[in-house]
Amino acid sequence: MTDIEPIIQPRMSRDRFVAFAFAASDILLELDASGTVVFVDGATRGILGRQMEDIHGKLFFDLLPEADATIAQTVMADMDKKHRMDKTEISVKNIYGDAVPFMMSGFRLSNLQNHTYLALSVLKGDVSTDLLFRRDFDTGMLKTQSFVEIANEKIQAAKERGEDVKLTLVGLPDLKTLLDQLSEEARAALMMEISDYIRSKSIDGDTAGILDPESYSFVHAGTGEPAKLVEDIIKITQKADPMGKGVAVEATTLNANPGALTKTDSANALLYTLNQFAHRAGEDFTIESLSGGYKKLLDETVQKMSSFKQTVGGHDFKLAFQPIVDLKSGLIHHYEVLVRINNQETFKNPFEFITFGEQAGIIGDFDLLMCQKVFEVLEKTANKGNHPLVAVNISGKSLGSMLFKDALRRLIALNQRTRKQMIFEVTESSKIEDLATANTFIQEMREQGNLCCLDDFGTGESSFEYLRNLQVDFIKIDGSYVRESLKTQRGRHMLKAMAGLCRDLNVTTIGEMVEDEKAAAMLWESGVKFGQGYLFGKPDIDENTIINCKKPTPFYQGIMRAKKFDKKDRAWWSAANS
Ligand code: C2E
Ligand code: CA
Ligand code: CA
Repeated sequence: MTDIEPIIQPRMSRDRFVAFAFAASDILLELDASGTVVFVDGATRGILGRQMEDIHGKLFFDLLPEADATIAQTVMADMDKKHRMDKTEISVKNIYGDAVPFMMSGFRLSNLQNHTYLALSVLKGDVSTDLLFRRDFDTGMLKTQSFVEIANEKIQAAKERGEDVKLTLVGLPDLKTLLDQLSEEARAALMMEISDYIRSKSIDGDTAGILDPESYSFVHAGTGEPAKLVEDIIKITQKADPMGKGVAVEATTLNANPGALTKTDSANALLYTLNQFAHRAGEDFTIESLSGGYKKLLDETVQKMSSFKQTVGGHDFKLAFQPIVDLKSGLIHHYEVLVRINNQETFKNPFEFITFGEQAGIIGDFDLLMCQKVFEVLEKTANKGNHPLVAVNISGKSLGSMLFKDALRRLIALNQRTRKQMIFEVTESSKIEDLATANTFIQEMREQGNLCCLDDFGTGESSFEYLRNLQVDFIKIDGSYVRESLKTQRGRHMLKAMAGLCRDLNVTTIGEMVEDEKAAAMLWESGVKFGQGYLFGKPDIDENTIINCKKPTPFYQGIMRAKKFDKKDRAWWSAANS
């Protein structure tokens, strides 16, 4: 940008302007007297999907939709008299040509060659496009879901033209370790350089996605060699590494011919492939395992997809109920319902089935069906005069879908008599992208009388973030903490700390995987209120048992009766549970 950069004295005053203005806005622009952008900085990628270079040198009014260009011209003409602009709402076109609304303010100084300084703050609550959610804020790269849509379009178009396109997956498994050692600025610069490089190799310079900071993918023409790509990216990381070592880079290129797949199937298969790749750490998935080719992977995925759809469409599964018990009294508080698939050829267990549904983006259909089945059971149970509470697992992914939420609202409206007996247990909360929106839905449910629970607490990287942002009635402490507390002092401290935190937040705790009395006692002593596990009952209660209101045989007496506690314990327990 040096050739048209204006001479401003002293340079520092602009730096200061930039710093001040940044504190309050997202994008800064400097226009020369003709309205040409001579300086640009800020989140142009994240908000507009446009590189800064793409804006620099353009006429500002050309960046706006026509009506907004007229408004901008009017307010800027006024600045001839008063230097400062009244705050004005203005839209700027993003990379797709959609209007993104901003609040614009600015000033002009005649002793600075009549240059105009503009500060734009995006009106987030009012963004008419979902671009903010489509792109990664820091790098401007497409996020997984939007990358899948765009990549799939390009792949399909290439197929029609009979052209050969490829999909490359790039993994930097140690990048986070390097990023942690860098200053915030250096971190941002490195991420930007890596993503710019990958983007530049992709079709149209923008068919590249960021799955997480360590995993990328892009679609490119049939040529291009991964070896050179790997070498180049390693060099970028070496330059950023104070030790000069850089990080390992792995890449694999797949032939992206979707064969006879429909567009939807190929998009779902692509999504599944990328998710497998992004979650590869610790699982038996390696980048080499993809070498059989995209086509083979797609075939497998399509087969799984059809098996999943058959199970859901044909209602080819059963419900298994497991009790959640009050540790003090031994009484059942509610049941959790778990899926049991009849045909286990494709999916060996519920976990595989559910995880596939989540990674292929089709879990919402199943979650909804499960709610419907549970309402059927509750209705029959109510006819016999019983009203148990039942927790249904809802994937965090489903909570991100408007379609799912609307369908669930309709289902609930049809089941007013029993609606309050359904507890929503949010699983895989680590997959929730938009916590605020998820929380709005959870609160809507709670206000209407449904209890809500956060499952698997402690497993994700940011469980505390979820606890802070999602107000729930229960949290379920992951079984691994219960196990650990029986083994180590540290584990006991962790458990107690979690229970204490939840008590302060007024959230009731449930401990999982309680397989013996020792585990129950440990939970109780740590201040956990409810327990679930083989000690109280396996998940083998079928729906007829629930419908017929048969009470499971009492197998657990409750801690107060099972064990004699001394006064100190009792005092602690009442304080913890008052
Ligand atoms: P989860 O929600 O954490 O469910 C608890 C899992 O632990 C269940 O495995 C249950 O059978 C098992 N379990 C219960 N007590 C004990 C115990 O004392 N010891 C041991 N070792 N295991 C115990 P399951 O049924 O295989 O389900 C696995 C996961 O699949 C669930 O984990 C849940 O995330 C998901 N899932 C199951 N059913 C559904 C469903 O209907 N919808 C959704 N979205 N997810 C489901
Ligand atoms: Ca659960
Ligand atoms: Ca769990």
